[in-house]
Amino acid sequence: MRYVDRSKLVKPTDWARRAEAATQAVASGEDPNDHGGVWRELKDELAKLLHDKCWYCESPVDRSDNAVDHFRPKNRVSDAANPHTGYRWLAFDASNFRYACTYCNSRRKDIEGGTAGGKADCFPLVNEAQRVYAVGSVAAEQPLLLDPCEMSDWRLLGCHQENGQPCAAGTDDAAKRRADVSIEIYHLHYEPTCKRRHTAAVQLMADVDEGKRLFELVTHDPGREADFKSVAARLRRAIDRDSPYSGDMHFLLRGQRSDAHPWIQELLEA
Ligand SMILES: [Zn+2]
Repeated sequence: MRYVDRSKLVKPTDWARRAEAATQAVASGEDPNDHGGVWRELKDELAKLLHDKCWYCESPVDRSDNAVDHFRPKNRVSDAANPHTGYRWLAFDASNFRYACTYCNSRRKDIEGGTAGGKADCFPLVNEAQRVYAVGSVAAEQPLLLDPCEMSDWRLLGCHQENGQPCAAGTDDAAKRRADVSIEIYHLHYEPTCKRRHTAAVQLMADVDEGKRLFELVTHDPGREADFKSVAARLRRAIDRDSPYSGDMHFLLRGQRSDAHPWIQELLEA
């Protein structure tokens, strides 16, 4: 996961007017899905905000997929304490849109890998008593799910370098709980995703080892400076927002910081 600044979203002319008309239609009883064209109009622009990657897992997404996820579900909320017909009043509110792959977005089972996940109608809260059921502000709700549109949520997720399995990066109980719930609901432990994440991790760790070796060499052989720089540039690319699984790679690289290798901290800040 990485932070997505949704203020950069570009909307077509008059989109706000169409969204308002759809919101009115839904308020008078129509099904939000009958106006799905309104949110689909923004799909390509949403995709651009994170280089065509899923905002939850950072896997590349095929734009032909049904990729606009409503962070707060629009038709029903399966984990609400009381029957919930969905945050229908936010169905056409762009601040509720997330760009997501089908594995994160739709409920599915991976029989072979033995995992299940996919967000579908789930929207758990830290405190269920704060659940909002009807038109109004949702500011008091604290989502349990990590949100790519919150500036620091992405830093609470990481992965194991040995197998690409996702893990909590935070240490306090509340942060760990949010990461664990998100891994489950976004299906971040989906086996094929773990394999791709692992491939990226193996490359990253090989580059870290090579970078450390070259950094030490350069102190008595300045001729190796160019080699060191090219490895450092590769590592910088791996943690860049453009790259698949860059949040996970950022987490792994953070774990490699040491006084002997200040260049790693510099890469993280660059
Ligand atoms: Zn995804």
